[in-house]
Amino acid sequence: MVNTSSRVLMTGSNQITQRYGNGHGGVDLVKKTNQLDSITAHSDGTVVWCQSGIPNDTGSSGNRSYGNAVKIRHANGYYTLYAHMDSVVVKNGQSVKAGQKIGYMGNTGNSYGAHLHFEVRNAADTRVNPEPYLNDDLPGNSTDKVTGYTGDLTYRAYTGKAWQPKVINCGDGADGYAGIFGLPIEGLQIDAEHCDVFYRVHVQGGDWLPEIKNSGTGADGYAGIYGRTIDGIQIRTNQGYVDCRVHLVGDKDYLDWVRFGATYQDGPDGYAGIFGRAIDGVQMK
Ligand SMILES: [Zn+2]
Repeated sequence: MVNTSSRVLMTGSNQITQRYGNGHGGVDLVKKTNQLDSITAHSDGTVVWCQSGIPNDTGSSGNRSYGNAVKIRHANGYYTLYAHMDSVVVKNGQSVKAGQKIGYMGNTGNSYGAHLHFEVRNAADTRVNPEPYLNDDLPGNSTDKVTGYTGDLTYRAYTGKAWQPKVINCGDGADGYAGIFGLPIEGLQIDAEHCDVFYRVHVQGGDWLPEIKNSGTGADGYAGIYGRTIDGIQIRTNQGYVDCRVHLVGDKDYLDWVRFGATYQDGPDGYAGIFGRAIDGVQMK
């Protein structure tokens, strides 16, 4: 066991019981006494995913294996993830400060005894070794404003004759995408936290519609035409990039992520979707 101080347990001191690597995507931490510790946000950020109500379920896989868990997106684009919590005290979309309590250590999901499974992921959502950051800033975090970071993306879709709830970034599960699987999307709105976002959609059997800047009210405040199915999405920003992927009616999986930068690109890789196929789910980050 490795003793270390920590920014993610309220006591500030803990021991590593399982290190990163060999198929383990995070570090496991326990407190030195039997008392369950409070878990704290590593750095300022926004909760982009959380789940609760999961019991201990050894052998479970996928998101359920995390038990009650929180994922936070930070200013540099990095993420931290906290799993197996007894309970969660923050909500999806909530802003949190470094050191703020987000839940309590627990034994939920695929867990064999109370501990915190802590992950650090880079801006591409790829896991990295969290150990260097247990008591230190994430890369670039101290500067707060990292060039090119668009901030949180907020978006919603019009489908089933109504605007569906707003989604902040993407997550897993029903709250993690805009749309309703099985229903073609007919309208789209997008906002970015730190910059302007421009976007346009392609309608089935038609052409690209006029570009929209951010979301607004009225007919000009969204991309699409009510009653017409969207089969292509293009995005550009005046800072950084936006990753977007779509789900098509009748498909099992999402199409691949498409990265959008400062300009629209031509060709099949330059938009999210497949012309002629109805989009029924959108994710962005
Ligand atoms: Zn673990």
